[in-house]
Amino acid sequence: AIDNFDRADEKTRADERIEYLASHDSLTRLPNREMFNELLRHAIEAACRYDRRFAVLFIDLDRFKLINDSLGHDAGDMLLVEIANRLRGALRSSDVVARLGGDEFVVILEETAERADVERIAGDLLTVLSQPLQLSGHECHATASIGIALYPSDGGDVQTLTKNADMAMYLAKDDGKNGFRFFSTEIKTQSIERLTLETALRRALERDQFALHYQPKVDMGTGQITGVEALLRWTHPELGVLSPLQFIPLAEETGLIVPIGRWVLREACAQNMAWQRRGLRPVSMAVNLSPRQFVDEHLLQDIDEALASSGMSPVLLQLEVTESMVMRNVARAVKVLDAIQSRGIRLAIDDFGTGYSSMSLMKQFPIDTIKIDRSFVRDLPNDSEDQAIAQAIISMGKALGMTVIAEGVETVEQQAFLRSHACDEMQGYLFSKPLPPAQLASLLRSAPMLVSPPLQPAAGDLTARPGRRSKPGRNSARLSR
Ligand code: C2E
Ligand code: MG
Ligand code: MG
Repeated sequence: AIDNFDRADEKTRADERIEYLASHDSLTRLPNREMFNELLRHAIEAACRYDRRFAVLFIDLDRFKLINDSLGHDAGDMLLVEIANRLRGALRSSDVVARLGGDEFVVILEETAERADVERIAGDLLTVLSQPLQLSGHECHATASIGIALYPSDGGDVQTLTKNADMAMYLAKDDGKNGFRFFSTEIKTQSIERLTLETALRRALERDQFALHYQPKVDMGTGQITGVEALLRWTHPELGVLSPLQFIPLAEETGLIVPIGRWVLREACAQNMAWQRRGLRPVSMAVNLSPRQFVDEHLLQDIDEALASSGMSPVLLQLEVTESMVMRNVARAVKVLDAIQSRGIRLAIDDFGTGYSSMSLMKQFPIDTIKIDRSFVRDLPNDSEDQAIAQAIISMGKALGMTVIAEGVETVEQQAFLRSHACDEMQGYLFSKPLPPAQLASLLRSAPMLVSPPLQPAAGDLTARPGRRSKPGRNSARLSR
């Protein structure tokens, strides 16, 4: 009888072991996804029966892949075990901590009904998780992002609660990581909006919903229009006209910026030639490039095609890039920019001063124009710091033989300050807002023609194009007058 009893006991233990293995993660020994679903179902049933509330926290490590890829899988595993222990250690034994897979953890706070308490606990968890740890001899700081859904307000079943906590977690990541975010119905509309916006953006090109507006740039000395900048507008069927700030980030993220940017190049060049055919004097055409476009291997081809199909002279084209775009991979940027410059196309650094760039590296790039970012112009001439920055950018640009343009000039005071510090050109509402093509044409027509760049590069002019740090095209145009 004792024998039989032992055997039965053994079997029970084996069954328990099997059940444990099937329901737990072998690395961290936390409940796995199946078990978590089961536990959440129990929590919902109990809360429903006793009319209680609770919270589900979705926790995802920031940059886990980076640690895993750079320090190896063993280090990644160690980190996951450490995170599991820290979570367990920071919570009450009645709270559920599970690992859903990868670097995703989830917590159920069954006895925490108040939002303020959940908030405090989420904050504590972030602090505990961000404590440094040693991994393969390196000190690491792992941070996490947390999304929170509350029962019953954010969902009454397992699926909805997890989905909403997950969605909130993604937005916490968007907020810049190492933070937490509660689910809200706005989040839901936000992500639905994002989805519909993305679908609409995908169709916008074929439905011909994009247009370019053109903002003139004027010479500080003569007050003449030297060129225009093409700025993209999207007329959404329901939302109306959208500014690039509202959709370019999404276009960039989804890669749609590449075909859109290609369209912009073609359209801008074609418009420039259409104006010229109507007898307007040729002006330079500035087109913004996005980071994604800049690393696209077909960029040069796209540029060549836009020029060839329109017949516009490359010397009239100016491409605007940002500091971060060229600093990300200097060797590659030099190659691409050199290839662009060798075609006679001019290059400008946009939003100058907002990114990170080094002077010694700037010299390597065949840039002929810098645009002082609007943020330094806004508080001129009152803010002494902005005064110093604007002055420094102007003198540095001049020392390198570049044309300096100020963006966002709105007042005569700003203009006066910039002029007195010998800034070459300005662009801003003071002179004109970005305008649709027809209005820009009338502006060009009404402006007296004092300075005119050459329509086509003179023979041999391409080779005589501004080499690095020589005088920019605008000046050579004036000299040849
Ligand atoms: P950006 O290239 O720095 O363009 C200047 C922005 O400043 C434009 O905004 C312009 O309307 C605005 N602006 C001009 N003058 C003033 C002023 O006096 N005051 C103020 N407050 N703003 C002024 P917009 O058209 O909304 O474009 C925003 C940004 O979107 C652009 O900044 C550029 O980075 C990007 N963008 C526009 N079109 C394109 C495009 O075709 N392709 C790419 N990749 N990016 C584009
Ligand atoms: Mg620009
Ligand atoms: Mg700018």
